[in-house]
This record gives sequence, C-alpha cells and structure tokens, in this order.
Amino acid sequence: MKRIGILTSGGDAPGMNAAIRAVVRAGLSYGLEVYGIYNGYRGLIEEDFVAMNRHSVSDIVARGGTILRTARLPEFKELSVQQKAIANLKKHGIEALVVIGGDGTYRGALDLTNQGVNCIALPGTIDNDVASTDFTIGFDTALNTIIDAVDKIRDTTESHSRCSIVEVMGNHCGDLALYAGIASGAEIIITPEIHPDDQEVIDYLKKLRAQDADRRAIMVVSEKLYPSIHDFAKKIEENTGFVTRATVLGYIQRGGAPSANDRILGGRMGAYAVDLLMEGKGGEAVGIRGTTLVATPIPEALKMKKVWDESIRNVVHQINN
Ligand code: ATP
Repeated sequence: MKRIGILTSGGDAPGMNAAIRAVVRAGLSYGLEVYGIYNGYRGLIEEDFVAMNRHSVSDIVARGGTILRTARLPEFKELSVQQKAIANLKKHGIEALVVIGGDGTYRGALDLTNQGVNCIALPGTIDNDVASTDFTIGFDTALNTIIDAVDKIRDTTESHSRCSIVEVMGNHCGDLALYAGIASGAEIIITPEIHPDDQEVIDYLKKLRAQDADRRAIMVVSEKLYPSIHDFAKKIEENTGFVTRATVLGYIQRGGAPSANDRILGGRMGAYAVDLLMEGKGGEAVGIRGTTLVATPIPEALKMKKVWDESIRNVVHQINN
C-alpha cells in the first residue's frame, strides 16, 4: 500500500481536525502518501483530492470544524455512484481510506470495503450516538459548550426564580442531555431514554415550588422529543406557577475549539486507523472502551445498541433531585 485517503462526512464535530492531522502524520511516518478528500463522499465523485504533507495539517489541532469540509451525498447508497468513486480512487492510486463520521458514513465505508477498497471508520459526531465506542470525537467539546451555556442561563433563572428549559442536540441519543444535566445540576433531565410524561414533570415542579416559593428549576431536554419546546414551556408555566422560558442551543453546540479530550481521542483514533490499514484491515469501526482503543467490524458496530450504565441513571435520581 502506497497511498491512502482521508475524508470527513456527515455532521462536523470538534476534534475531526486532530484526527485528520494524526492520519496524515501517521501515514507519512509509515512512508505512505496521504490524500485529503474534500466534502465527504461527494469529493470521491468529484475527484476533489489534494496531496497532503506535514505542513498541510500544521496548526489545525486546536481548530473546530473540519479543514476537509463535509457534505451529505444521499446518492452514495447507489452502487453505480460507489463504482464511480472506486474508479476515481483507482485513477489516483488511492488504495485505502480513513473516513470520519456517523453511522451513515460507516455504511458507505462498508460498501467500499466490500468492493475492494479497505476503509477504516472513526466516530466523529457530537451526539455520541455510535454504540461501538464509549465516546465519539466531538462529544466532550459539545458537552462543555452546553454546560457553559447552562451555567449562564442559571444566573438569570436563579435571579428571577424561573424555570429554564434548555434543548440540546443528540439525534435520538440522550447522552448530551444526560451528561450535561448531571454536570450542571439540572432538576430535570428528559431524553429519549428517560422520558417522563408531562404530568409527571408538572407534579414534580409543583412539589419543588411548594417546598420553596423562591426556588428556580433547570430542565435539560434532548432535541426532537417535543414538536415545539416553546409550547412545552408554555404548558409548564400554565400548570406549575413557574415563569418558564425555553432556550434552543442549536448549532453553537457543534462549534468551537476542541477540548483536550477530543484532541487526544481524535489523535489516538487517527493514528490507530492507519495502523489497522497497515495490517491490511478494512471494514472496521474504531472505538474506545475505557482507555483502550478497539476495532469492531462495521456490520457488528451498526447492530450494537447503546446501553447506559445503571450508575449513570441512578445518579440522576440520587444527586440531582
Ligand atoms: P451524523 O451522525 O453527523 O449525521 P452520519 O455519517 O450518520 O453523520 P449521514 O448523512 O447519515 O451522516 O451519512 C453521511 C453520508 O454517508 C451520506 O451523505 C452518504 O453519502 C453516506 N451514506 C449514508 N448512508 C449510506 C448507506 N446506507 N450506504 C452508503 N452510503 C451511505
């Protein structure tokens, strides 16, 4: 193997640049040529390739987003589109790929591997919705951004004795809300996995209000659970006596300089992906279990379901109430 490629796909996440840097530098240290592919799988179709050297990845470890940019190309599910990508890779002598993204990106990587182009997939998404790893690249940074925002919202919530609802990202995975809720001492955490009905939430807030008329309450809620978080806030206000405001954090959660953890995770995973390619492996998803990097065959990784440690669920009841 002489030449490999690297691309980022799906949603961007802080720490992707650290992973790109590691793939390039590790590849060069093995004597490989490394090509950056712009705009995810679309770049494979449009031959948007660039030869990278040590300096191409200088000063990117601290930058959010992805210098290779990212895109979604739904047509990549089609065999004819994949064949075009493979022909372009062959034309440029690129024999294997590292791809960084979420489960959609993994599926594309598996299809390419099954057609002879070894691909190693890294989990790059703030949502932590990839079951084959404890943590995805970008999750820790987004979590810290959310905590910073909730801390600020807390000041005004406290001053006015209000209830604040903070809606966070997650893509059907409650990790961002759960961890942010624990770390910011939220009274209520609502996620796809822990979803009390409206009446339970109302009863609980009324109980808090009855205990202390001046108290405030903070609720961290995963996205996509309520048709309108503002309508939910109105319902809470009408039924509890708490003046209630909802804040949707939105894309601020995707940006910013990656945290130390995400830089280290991206760096370790990127270098490990190149090791796996050098061993002739393909179709593997890189993850971390505890402090150990692991590789899981992509079909198995895609079937895995996230399971919360019972102690994390318990902490919500034991210390946040
Ligand atoms: P995120 O979690 O941030 O959404 P993702 O990788 O899951 O990341 P998707 O948009 O689902 O994001 O997928 C990224 C790209 O992967 C798609 O635009 C498409 O090019 C490719 N892809 C998705 N699903 C498949 C599939 N079933 N087969 C082949 N390629 C796919």
